[in-house]
Amino acid sequence: MTSSRVPHLTAKLQGFGTTIFAEMSALAVATGSVNLGQGFPDTDGPAEVLDAAVDAIRSGQNQYPPGPGLPVLRTAIAEHQQRFYGLTYDPDSEVLVTAGATEALAGALLGLLDTGDEVVLFEPMYDSYQACIALAGATARPVTLRPPDYGFDLDELRAAITPKTKLLLVNTPHNPTGKVLDRAEMQSIADLAIEHDLIVVTDEVYEHLCFDDAEHVAMATLPGMRDRTLSISSGGKTFNTTGWKIGWLCGPAPLVTAARTAKQFLTYVNGGPFQVGIAAGLRLDASYFTGLAAGLQAQRDRLVPGLVAAGFEVYPTRGTYFVTVDIRPLRADGDGMAFCRELPHRAGVVAIPNEVFYANRHEGRHLVRFAFCKRPEVLDQAVERLAALGA
Ligand code: PMP
Ligand code: GLN
Repeated sequence: MTSSRVPHLTAKLQGFGTTIFAEMSALAVATGSVNLGQGFPDTDGPAEVLDAAVDAIRSGQNQYPPGPGLPVLRTAIAEHQQRFYGLTYDPDSEVLVTAGATEALAGALLGLLDTGDEVVLFEPMYDSYQACIALAGATARPVTLRPPDYGFDLDELRAAITPKTKLLLVNTPHNPTGKVLDRAEMQSIADLAIEHDLIVVTDEVYEHLCFDDAEHVAMATLPGMRDRTLSISSGGKTFNTTGWKIGWLCGPAPLVTAARTAKQFLTYVNGGPFQVGIAAGLRLDASYFTGLAAGLQAQRDRLVPGLVAAGFEVYPTRGTYFVTVDIRPLRADGDGMAFCRELPHRAGVVAIPNEVFYANRHEGRHLVRFAFCKRPEVLDQAVERLAALGA
């Protein structure tokens, strides 16, 4: 958030400025840098997914899909939830297709929140959360996750809940830290939700990107949680199709109806042929999903030693596309924003300053995020360039 007032802009969005992803991707293009900033892969996803979308275009499926999403995709989403989590959803009343997880989050938050409601969530957090909460006239109550393990203090979480709290918003695997909340952590959040009768909205876009022995625990699978949880995900990360913007949410019909009511006035619908492609992806064999995670784990393991060698303090990451580093060994004043703005010019590499993911910006001032969802030769080039920094 920036402090200067922008003319004409609604008071609700004063301070939000331009997203860092747009700024940093533009800087990468302008400077010819290796872009380890915005999280998008640089290889295409499975041919089955791409071909299904192309076939849908060629066979004339190019008009508005139904408001809640194409039946073929809603059915594939319900089957996916059953296959991976043992959760049963009715594709007609309990599944909604959205314009990426971003619109699922917007629909859920705008559909569920009233002015004055509070949302308890962790920071760092994906940047759209705060903006959508602000648009809804609600207030974000962030609880800070701190390195090196990015765990949370249960008393702090409990203290953030007030009589005005309407919902908890939980992202795991977590952007930008790569933290995967374990079963005990998820259970302790679930216990609080039940105790205080709260809705939980989960952001699970990296559900298939867990490394080592980390396991994604879906909130809705915990006892008593299915009927108070809206689970959000999208096809972008799972099928290397971030530009398609096909997302979804699943939950009990009353929560889905609330989100759908808001969503229908945001985009109404999107991406008909892409919905067919993602439906094909969700039906791929288990080996596709394990192979995806194994590939990204190898990419992580290619970048991380290079970041260590460059002199950063590197925090462990067990999921997502991202790794977070402390820049202070290389820049004593710990100004991550200045570091990221200079890095393309100094080293030809783009990264993201983690402070943009915090409401309490000082908590993330010295932290920087690198994305490793890139081809090996691209990661090697970045490592080579970063090595020159400490020299
Ligand atoms: N949530 C998180 C945590 C993310 O990192 C992203 C970025 N892709 C999104 C939501 C948005 O996903 P989509 O591109 O499907 O809108
Ligand atoms: N989720 C991706 C990231 O965190 C991209 C987000 C975006 O461009 N809005 O980098």
